[in-house]
Amino acid sequence: MPTIQSSDPAVWDSICHERTRQAEGLELIASENYTSEAVMEAAGTVLTNKYAEGYPGRRYYGGCEHVDTVEDIARERACELFGAEHANVQPHAGSQANMAVYLTVMEPGDTVLAMDLAHGGHLTHGMRLNFSGKLYKTAHYGVREDDNRIDFDQVAALAKEHKPKMIIAGASAYPREIDHAKFADIAKENGAVLMVDMAHYAGLVAGGIHNNPVPVADFVTTTTHKTLRGPRSGLILCRKDAAKDIDRSVFPGMQGGPLMHIVAAKAICFGEALKPEFKQYAQQIVDNAKTLSETLLAGGLRLASGGTDNHLMLCDVTAIDLSGSIAEEALDKAGITVNKNMIPFDKRKPMDPSGIRIGTAALTTRGMKTDEMKKVGAWILEVLKNCDNDSELTRIRAEIAEFTKAFPVPGIA
Ligand code: PLP
Repeated sequence: MPTIQSSDPAVWDSICHERTRQAEGLELIASENYTSEAVMEAAGTVLTNKYAEGYPGRRYYGGCEHVDTVEDIARERACELFGAEHANVQPHAGSQANMAVYLTVMEPGDTVLAMDLAHGGHLTHGMRLNFSGKLYKTAHYGVREDDNRIDFDQVAALAKEHKPKMIIAGASAYPREIDHAKFADIAKENGAVLMVDMAHYAGLVAGGIHNNPVPVADFVTTTTHKTLRGPRSGLILCRKDAAKDIDRSVFPGMQGGPLMHIVAAKAICFGEALKPEFKQYAQQIVDNAKTLSETLLAGGLRLASGGTDNHLMLCDVTAIDLSGSIAEEALDKAGITVNKNMIPFDKRKPMDPSGIRIGTAALTTRGMKTDEMKKVGAWILEVLKNCDNDSELTRIRAEIAEFTKAFPVPGIA
């Protein structure tokens, strides 16, 4: 019997319910995944007990010899995986990775040019309530209205007009491959630093499916828990000449002690992503997203940009007279987890937008392939036709729970 079960039954109870939810449902949140058992084990080790402010060989605490080894392994593997000269593996999360780059590059009041949140950008890309929007001036580019692809003419024009200190490429809800070299050209022409936030598609870069931003960007940041399938955390990559500055911005600039158990889990994640099987996994994520998007299109949904090149798609459910929150709620009742999301040029509000965002990374980890995606797509369409019909949603939920038994979640028997 696990210790928590007797020492804290209230928390244990919630953990058990969450395990069941993860096992019996279809997890389609584009920013989520299931880690391997090894990653999960590392996150639950004694390394959580250790303070290790500083960096390997230069710590402010004694007893760091073993965590030094772990951090060195993590840094070396991250560099090998993405072909980078330097890696900082200490950011607690993606937002912290981004904050460290801002601290390195910008003074308060400087301008950043990044993707509009309403077109798929992230909070840390200059949203007014986020540190990035509060401390810095922001200019935002978006996608074109006709094809929902990044409007590079607008990026170039805004860069010329605002002369930003930094340009950010990368997004949270953009279903197409991003041309990093084009961003690098615009940054160079305008004397700006280029940061690529590849949080969503880092796994596709690691698997060689999407173009690698490391050779063309000054700084590359990512979360490690989305397509990369590691623990909930962050990572920064840069050239050697920026290593000292970026390390100082993370510690002591923005964080205290690193989470060494999570650094160990990241080391394991990078090791897994270096294996040939990870390439197949990344390809399967994309194949699955293509099949799922084609199934949804055939069922009458409109997709932003008409489809996907990566792990996610943005479905406009107003095409079938629903809103994003009604769709999210009905899908939840049927055991299908997605999130409501603004679509580009949305006329509705963020709390009840026109779309839902759907991603395939987690179901692909469970071993689902394109045949299963056709089934998943059919369930989604069935739910969306029956949003008000609770008994139908309950019937679909039971069907899905039965179906998922053949696709175990790592670590859940
Ligand atoms: N950058 C992008 C593009 C993201 O999508 C996210 C999270 O969704 C983040 C940064 C921030 O990650 P975290 O939630 O770990 O702070």
